[in-house]
Amino acid sequence: MIGFEPSDDQQALREHVHQFAVNEVRPRAVHHDQTMAYPWEAIRAAHEAGLMNTHIPEKWGGLGLGCVDASFIAEELAWGCTGIGTTFEANGLALEPVISGASDYLMEKYVAPMVSEVRMAAYAVTEPNAGSDVAAIRTTAVRKGDHYVLNGSKMWITNAGVCDWMFVLAVTDREAGYKGMTGFIVERGWKGVEVGKKEINLGQRCSDTRGVTFTDVEIPVENVVGEVGKGWMLAMGAFDHTRPLVASSAVGLARSAMEHAVQYATERKTMGKPIAQHQAVSFMIAEMARDIEAARLLVWRAAWLKDQGQRNTKEASMAKAFAADMAHRVASDAVQVFGGYGYNSEYPVEKLLRDSKIFQIYEGTSQIQRLIIARELFSGR
Ligand SMILES: Cc1cc2nc3c(=O)[nH]c(=O)nc-3n(C[C@H](O)[C@H](O)[C@H](O)COP(=O)(O)OP(=O)(O)OC[C@H]3O[C@@H](n4cnc5c(N)ncnc54)[C@H](O)[C@@H]3O)c2cc1C
Repeated sequence: MIGFEPSDDQQALREHVHQFAVNEVRPRAVHHDQTMAYPWEAIRAAHEAGLMNTHIPEKWGGLGLGCVDASFIAEELAWGCTGIGTTFEANGLALEPVISGASDYLMEKYVAPMVSEVRMAAYAVTEPNAGSDVAAIRTTAVRKGDHYVLNGSKMWITNAGVCDWMFVLAVTDREAGYKGMTGFIVERGWKGVEVGKKEINLGQRCSDTRGVTFTDVEIPVENVVGEVGKGWMLAMGAFDHTRPLVASSAVGLARSAMEHAVQYATERKTMGKPIAQHQAVSFMIAEMARDIEAARLLVWRAAWLKDQGQRNTKEASMAKAFAADMAHRVASDAVQVFGGYGYNSEYPVEKLLRDSKIFQIYEGTSQIQRLIIARELFSGR
């Protein structure tokens, strides 16, 4: 039996988050886009409403929500504003490898406090010369007695300027390839951690993206996440949980773009009738509805597999690639429906088009998702 309807509890969760997005996220979206200010008020409100870090296990005081539930939250927050939503989701990405691998000591010290207080985290893997090619990272951590010494630099790290700690992937054994990489928790305030300027990006402009430099940073051995040499698995494994959520955020953005397009197409008249009555326009919007629905089903399938404890790498990449490409196309078509007004920042869809582009880039580009899908299809042949 295949079920496509959320349970009553899940429906209540969606409605709760939607109301939150209506009251706390969407009204702030334009301000944060224009000023690029970090959305602390929305974050505090989300924390208060229990919508931050929802997958922290109950053992550590969290809600222990699964990936399907988190996908509902991500879609609604993104419907409100994906710039604000990304600041929340980046916490989830940083937490994922830690929840999967960390000792009780690290969970108690770094993860449990995020339930009671507003604390931000960052996932620091990409480097100036290694994005898609994670195996090419150069940051090193060398063991010296009871600590490691970290040197190198990271790039494009979301939440870098506001986080309390980062999950950092570093090379601990150059000869061992990806098996020579280890994950660490590094506090932003430690000596030798230098965070760069806030990058000015095309979209999602309130999200805090920066480079980070590590110069002889001393990391206590207790801050190794999981085992030495298992960092790659933890860092890459995190995407099985987070890519469906990025995809869900893309669905939320596309839904918002479509709603604006529907509204405008009913109001705007040309040649004596609302433009919705011109088939060229209504078909564009019909395709938006079709593709949003298809993307959401891919998200739910990938998230459901994850919650069942089944391997979902291929499905997570399918959801991410399809939803990202779809959201960018839908946002672009929404601009088209608005005509000249769509190209102007007084109207909402211009921001959505700018915001949508990043879905094809972060957490693995659309090309890399296709690479993963193809590898999964051809593996063993
Ligand atoms: C706003 C923003 C936020 C981000 N947040 C984070 C974060 O929090 N933490 C983090 O670690 N990283 C983060 N990133 C980094 C992001 O994940 C990388 O930018 C992304 O993985 C691409 O890497 P790159 O920029 O080095 O591009 P490259 O890897 O240099 O790729 C350039 C182009 O070549 C294509 N390409 C590369 N290799 C192949 C291949 N083998 N086959 C086909 N095509 C290929 C890519 O798809 C792309 O189109 C963020 C990036 C941005 C812009």
